[in-house]
Amino acid sequence: MKLRISLLLSGLLATAAAWAADTPFERCISLSATNPAAALKQVQDELPQQKDAAAIAGLRLCRGHALLLSGKREQAVDEFQFAVSEAERLRDNSLLAAALLLRGEQRGYDGQYADAIADLKRGYELMVQRGDVLNQNYALNAIANLYADSNVKDYEQALQYYRKLLIAHLAKGAEQDTATTYFNIASTLEKMEQLPAAQEQFEQALAIDHKRNVGSDIAYDERALAVVLSKRGQHEAALRLLDHALQQYRSDQDEEGVATVQLSRGAALRRAGRNAAALADLDAARTYFQQHDNLRYLDKIYEELGLAQAGNGNWHEAYIARGEQMRVKQALEKQLLDERSSRLRVQFHTEQAQRNNASLASALEAADTIRRWQYAALVLSLLAIAALGVMMKRQIAQARRMRDLALTDELTRLPNRRHFLELAHTALAQAQRDHTPLAFAALDIDHFKRINDTYGHAVGDVVLQRISHAARVALRPGDVIGRIGGEEFLVLLRGTTLEQAMGAAERIRAAVAEVDCRDQAPELKPSISIGVAAYDALAGTLELICKRADDALYRAKANGRNRVEAALA
Ligand code: GH3
Ligand code: MG
Ligand code: MG
Repeated sequence: MKLRISLLLSGLLATAAAWAADTPFERCISLSATNPAAALKQVQDELPQQKDAAAIAGLRLCRGHALLLSGKREQAVDEFQFAVSEAERLRDNSLLAAALLLRGEQRGYDGQYADAIADLKRGYELMVQRGDVLNQNYALNAIANLYADSNVKDYEQALQYYRKLLIAHLAKGAEQDTATTYFNIASTLEKMEQLPAAQEQFEQALAIDHKRNVGSDIAYDERALAVVLSKRGQHEAALRLLDHALQQYRSDQDEEGVATVQLSRGAALRRAGRNAAALADLDAARTYFQQHDNLRYLDKIYEELGLAQAGNGNWHEAYIARGEQMRVKQALEKQLLDERSSRLRVQFHTEQAQRNNASLASALEAADTIRRWQYAALVLSLLAIAALGVMMKRQIAQARRMRDLALTDELTRLPNRRHFLELAHTALAQAQRDHTPLAFAALDIDHFKRINDTYGHAVGDVVLQRISHAARVALRPGDVIGRIGGEEFLVLLRGTTLEQAMGAAERIRAAVAEVDCRDQAPELKPSISIGVAAYDALAGTLELICKRADDALYRAKANGRNRVEAALA
């Protein structure tokens, strides 16, 4: 689900337009919004003559903005960095607020979510102090969008910020902004799978847009609302809205709008069990998005096509659609890599493994389904009971293979996050029932980012594999280590007190410190830091124990890394 305000460029323009032109920065930034090349030239001309430090910082902030709009991200980041530290040094809050908003946006775009949010919040506070309402609301929206981002997924926080923003827009009677915010709240609720609440908020947005009588906004709301209705099983109402939105986009000659609605209508018809009609819409949407090489939509379309074909009993076509979907996913991943921004890298690492596992599992499932039919036909025609036995055995083996794939992290072959947490929940319940001790250790590779940056990602991946292997070998049988995130692991130590767990953790740390990576780079010497926490009456839930282990890990980092720390009593 796309948010109605795109985070970066439109936002920067709005920000830029909001400054009145009295300082060199303000003059430059309003020019930059419309003509970045001219702004760059202006900075080039003025900078050598400027003696005033604040004016210099302002011009360079503006240059960052213009560079960004010209696609020169890396140089822009340097300028933002400079402007923030100068504004801090000079205690120029007005410049600092502007610099923080721009740097925050850029950081969000680069995938540095926590830093981005911190910048935006600080910028926001400064805007509040200055009484700059426009930029204040702008910052609120940017913060909320970041919290709602698929890499952050802190929907509760996102909702809080959207609601704050909603109150501001309502108070001002800003109808379009109010509708936009209702829409974003609804999208967030939809992601939280709170469908009735999402429906209600989409309806609010739609009611306002009806009042504003802006056809394209109405169609946009109608499509989104229809998707929720369809998910809730209200097929007829959903299809009515989609037909109306389609009419609007057709009369606007908005081809992308038409194709998007066709995709949603295809999905809605499929959910309503009208598979043949769904196929017609999905095929039309596919033609458009293929022409425009839009992989994200194609991914969704092939998923729906597969389901609709399967619903129609066309197993072969369903299988082909699955294959196409996997091909699209691969292309999408390659595209992400090629764009080589760290934002996309973050997404790649957290989602790729899950997606690989998921798509592999579903491809196997599809293949499995076809095979099952073939086997069934064989069994029927031969009436051979023996064949059934063979088939069952194979299916069991295949099901086991599929299950193992979906539970294992590709790179390290360790249990993945989901699987580890399942095991941990079970172990905790058992420890509580039997009154036996239980401990967890949180592991994090030291300066891993630096390893990646210095030797490249491929070496980083080898380091991850070797550390995983060394840690697993250092464990006792019965203990479990899982890969929880990029370079973060959790260890489950059954029947172990805090003291014993400290010993085990020290063994793991020492084993990792011995890992030999000289074949990768002569001076490469990876290490890990570990935080340990045990289950007790104070920390009764898995979340709490892990949080305490994490806090201890944080202290291990702060105390110099390559060490073990216990949770505080
Ligand atoms: P610290 O000692 O404080 O933990 O420093 P750090 O560099 O480890 O800091 P941080 O945890 O933020 O960096 C983690 C890095 O790990 C960032 C990310 O690019 C990298 N990473 C995450 N997953 C993978 C992966 O699968 N392969 C590779 N090569 N790198 C990964
Ligand atoms: Mg980390
Ligand atoms: Mg680390």
